[in-house]
Amino acid sequence: MADALPNSLLNGVIVPLIDARISPLDRGFLFGDGIYEVVPVYAGRPFRLDAHFDRLQDGLAALEIANPHSHARWTELVHELIDANGGGDMGIYLEISRGAGKGRDFLPERGMQPTVFGFCFRLAPPKPELLQRGISAATLEDIRWQRCDIKSVALVGPVMLKIEARRRGADEAILVRGERLAEGSSSAVFVVRDGRVATPPASHERLPSITRLVVADVLDALKLPLEVREVRRDELLTADEIWIASSTREALPVTSLDSQAVGEGEPGPLWRRLFDEFQALKQREAD
Ligand code: PLP
Repeated sequence: MADALPNSLLNGVIVPLIDARISPLDRGFLFGDGIYEVVPVYAGRPFRLDAHFDRLQDGLAALEIANPHSHARWTELVHELIDANGGGDMGIYLEISRGAGKGRDFLPERGMQPTVFGFCFRLAPPKPELLQRGISAATLEDIRWQRCDIKSVALVGPVMLKIEARRRGADEAILVRGERLAEGSSSAVFVVRDGRVATPPASHERLPSITRLVVADVLDALKLPLEVREVRRDELLTADEIWIASSTREALPVTSLDSQAVGEGEPGPLWRRLFDEFQALKQREAD
């Protein structure tokens, strides 16, 4: 992720990031008691914003935190934040924590005021070498909790997994629960075998990825069926192509898994079609 841009959002107001102050008693800091979102913005326009707001609302409801803003107000604030940082292509990080209490009780105090914080970072298109080469991944056992459908700010599990993936020389960790594919440590995963594309279904084991839905739309536009079903670990290890998808990386081909070539060890033919149509879909939605 690129460095933060200079202006941030704090409790409904745009402020320079260096002036943004949050209490050390904030429950986001003390307990990871909050929800976040990352929204891609292309040419100053947020992409699939409503889907991100819906997921944000679901996460807040799961944590029993009242949404501090209406959908309309959120939309205004997001646009203010984009404009304050000069528009263009960027990612927006939004966090809503339960707020700061008077001390550190596990049980939240009644009537707490949530803290809202947002900042932006530049989103550069993937470098041509990366598109030519693809990325590497390591399979790791999923050590996270049992509500991975909630986009909680408590991310120490994925942090540990990313560090382990890096130690193994991999760019991403692909998580398995026993013999079943869960998801990437910060991505949805697709597997191609014999020309058929599969991705696991929504469940408590995985985040309902917005980019996964975009990839489904892209495949639909290409008239390529998508099998939504559990994917076995051995299917991963014998895949012709593997793709990961996320809001900041769109869809990328995994060309090496556990230091073994995936398929021919280069981005596959279906991924190339996916990439072109993904760009076309972004353009269509921007228009
Ligand atoms: N799964 C996990 C665990 C993630 O952290 C992310 C994104 O950060 C994704 C999937 C992809 O979600 P999205 O496409 O909404 O960015």
